[in-house]
Amino acid sequence: MALTHPAYGRLRQVTETAAVLLADNPGQMTLEGTNTWVLRAPGRSDCVVVDPGPVDDRHSQAIADAVGGEIALTLVTHRHFDHTGGIDRLAELTGTVVRAKDPAFLRGSDAPLVDSEVVEAAGLRITVMDTPGHTADSVCFALEDAVLTGDTILGSGTTVLDASDGTLVDYMSSLNRLVEAGQGKALLPAHGPDHANLEPVARYYIAHRHERLDQVRAALHVLGPDADSMDVVRRVYVDVDKRLWPAAHSSVQAQLDYLRVHG
Ligand SMILES: [Zn+2]
Repeated sequence: MALTHPAYGRLRQVTETAAVLLADNPGQMTLEGTNTWVLRAPGRSDCVVVDPGPVDDRHSQAIADAVGGEIALTLVTHRHFDHTGGIDRLAELTGTVVRAKDPAFLRGSDAPLVDSEVVEAAGLRITVMDTPGHTADSVCFALEDAVLTGDTILGSGTTVLDASDGTLVDYMSSLNRLVEAGQGKALLPAHGPDHANLEPVARYYIAHRHERLDQVRAALHVLGPDADSMDVVRRVYVDVDKRLWPAAHSSVQAQLDYLRVHG
């Protein structure tokens, strides 16, 4: 029987070229854990790995075992530790070259990823898409039949914008880009289950953001334009578990910044 999400410690084939190895780091922000993607062109023994995952020797070892040591290239979707913590252990185990947009995560390469670059490795053509918003360094990777979305679009729920450099202005334009790029392609997220179609999920994400923006606008109407952002959270996220309020607070901050620009 075919494996279904979540399948900890097992390489689960999702598309013809993409298989996923789920790290055992479940949590509020990571859902069931971090998805490490293994991309392999038909008939090839080498592969491309996307997101080595957290610091977890068992996970790094499981990746190395799953790929038989032959990684042509490892790519990183963004800087967060649950995606990048395992870089050095994986490089140690397999000698893989690592590329990312943020130069801090380059290993064996001095070329940060750039927008629209086509990476050719292990018989695959992978198009890099700049998709800032969750973080400034977030990128997605487009294959012929799928898009790896990192934390820009998750397999369930919605994503949180990093208060330090994520912006809703960036995020909305990235989501619009993914509606376009996602037509007829599968969604391979860094957390949560994969989906056969990216486009409707990207559209849902945009609708959800507009809904929240409308709620924040309505809250400001009542509280006044200079309302404290935590008061806005109390009004708008009244239906959300209080443990998620710190995350909601950073989202509200991002929305207030957005409304200052776009009204
Ligand atoms: Zn992240």
